[in-house]
Amino acid sequence: MIRVAIDGPAGVGKSSTSKALAQHFGFAYLDTGAMYRACAWWCLHQGIDLDADELDERLITEAVGEFFTEGHADVTVDPEDPKVLADGQDISEEIRSAQVSSHVSKVSGIIPVRHILIAAQRAYIAREASADSFSQGRGIVAEGRDITTVVEPDAEVRVLLTAREEVRQSRRSGQAGQGVGADDVAKRDRADSKVTSFLTAADGVVTLDNSDLTFEQTLEQLIKLVDD
Ligand code: C5P
Repeated sequence: MIRVAIDGPAGVGKSSTSKALAQHFGFAYLDTGAMYRACAWWCLHQGIDLDADELDERLITEAVGEFFTEGHADVTVDPEDPKVLADGQDISEEIRSAQVSSHVSKVSGIIPVRHILIAAQRAYIAREASADSFSQGRGIVAEGRDITTVVEPDAEVRVLLTAREEVRQSRRSGQAGQGVGADDVAKRDRADSKVTSFLTAADGVVTLDNSDLTFEQTLEQLIKLVDD
């Protein structure tokens, strides 16, 4: 089983390239950002105030624990159609809303919340080693902010995908035009970098700057890294 860990800031094209990479090799795909987004969505739906000056971290952690460990949350790992479900309802679209984007860093910044999600992510990754998993033991591409450093520091392939800030911002506004919603990438990166280190590559992690690369060129480079 090959584990591919890909980290990087918002708007770098991690999801689309990671999905295509997983499809190329018949691997599963795990979007860990979607899991944090789902937690923010869940908290908002529970009526938890995520705009309070002082967040009720205990309440949020309890809600996330209930969501992930009591069977309310489900994540599917088919790269052609990855989904996040809450009590069976497909929330994959809703978790991309501007409202969720602007609140997600508050939830992901709570350390006990991260511990719950890291454990859940490791379980999804470990499951792919089995012959009756989605990838039938072939492997998984997991992407996020702390996969190369915290979730799977021993992954066979570890990549930090980066791009200049203006390039990332314009890729994100392109997506917003398609209904994704306004998203202040720079603000989110600033908040996220307080708890995860995705701005510089850790030891042994390959940096791939795709500012001047097309989607196909980025994918080609990633395929090469896995093949080697
Ligand atoms: O990748 P995406 O932009 O969808 O991630 C949404 C948010 O989830 C990030 O802004 C960050 O707050 C959080 N996240 C995280 N750790 C990860 C993946 C995402 O904290 N591994």
